[in-house]
Amino acid sequence: MGKRVLVALGGNAIKQPDEKGTFEEQMKNVETACVQIAQLVRRGYDLVITHGNGPQVGNLSIQQEAAVDQVPSQPLVVLGAMTQGQIGYMMQQHLHNILDGDGKQVVTVVTQVLVSKDDPDFKDPTKPVGPFYTDEVAHKLAVERGWVVKKVRPTGDRTWRRVVPSPAPLGIAEAKAIRRMVEDGMIVIASGGGGIPVFRNARGKLEGVDAVIDKDRAGAKLAEEVGTEILLILTDVEHAMMDYGKPTQAPIRHLTVAEAKKRLSEGHFGAGSMGPKVEAALGFVERGGERAIITSLAKAVDAVEGKTGTHISLR
Ligand code: ADP
Ligand code: MG
Repeated sequence: MGKRVLVALGGNAIKQPDEKGTFEEQMKNVETACVQIAQLVRRGYDLVITHGNGPQVGNLSIQQEAAVDQVPSQPLVVLGAMTQGQIGYMMQQHLHNILDGDGKQVVTVVTQVLVSKDDPDFKDPTKPVGPFYTDEVAHKLAVERGWVVKKVRPTGDRTWRRVVPSPAPLGIAEAKAIRRMVEDGMIVIASGGGGIPVFRNARGKLEGVDAVIDKDRAGAKLAEEVGTEILLILTDVEHAMMDYGKPTQAPIRHLTVAEAKKRLSEGHFGAGSMGPKVEAALGFVERGGERAIITSLAKAVDAVEGKTGTHISLR
């Protein structure tokens, strides 16, 4: 068996910021990503792949609300499951078409990720999801559905959005199955969009909850539970930078766990973007992972071969 790698794909791999998100656009982007991923497979790495779903779940929730007079809208947790299937299908088909000749099977797992209702984020939800609403509609939704809504734009017609908790991932319900499939040589797509958030209810049973788990944090947890040696976070920048956005900005080639913690506390990394990636990376190696790498999709192969990217290891 080759080295196991958990590949965490950023949003750009599926939808570019300037695109509408048509099926054709997304298929083309996913194909580009799959061509890179296939190179890792051909170099002998065994892969588990995870991905974001922000734009897809955003569009789906707009559709839910737009058609609410005709069909009942489905809860956010179900939209998470729907986008895992949607994106999983696109990746599965492209990887199949590229790698079928290599005898590789590709499977997508609808993945539930355990969270705790005691997570502090449930008391003060911060993650905006779905469309923007007018004052009137926002208040109606808050009363009728018990949603937490926040004013996220100072002016305009539609200034409100729903906000949901972004709790820490505590475990992957399907980890054993995913591990078995990887050991069998399959490529597994799992925990898409950070996974479907579930908690243990009073009867000890799993139950879904409307929340959004950060995909890089969930990816690190999945890597740990599947036992991959490498966590490879692919985004739109080749390196994490020091002094990001300042004239002194400089690429980081290597960080120990201690250095990564120091750089995080000094505020070098964007709070909702690079910050969670560096946290996920250092958490993974702290809990026994060999190496975490942050780089761009185009540099994936060079980075696992040590030629580029930001590498994080225990020492
Ligand atoms: P993804 O969809 O891959 O999760 P994000 O937008 O969440 O992508 O994170 C990548 C972005 O993080 C980069 O495009 C960059 O704008 C931003 N960023 C914030 N801080 C840094 C930093 N210190 N070094 C590099 N990029 C950073
Ligand atoms: Mg992100």
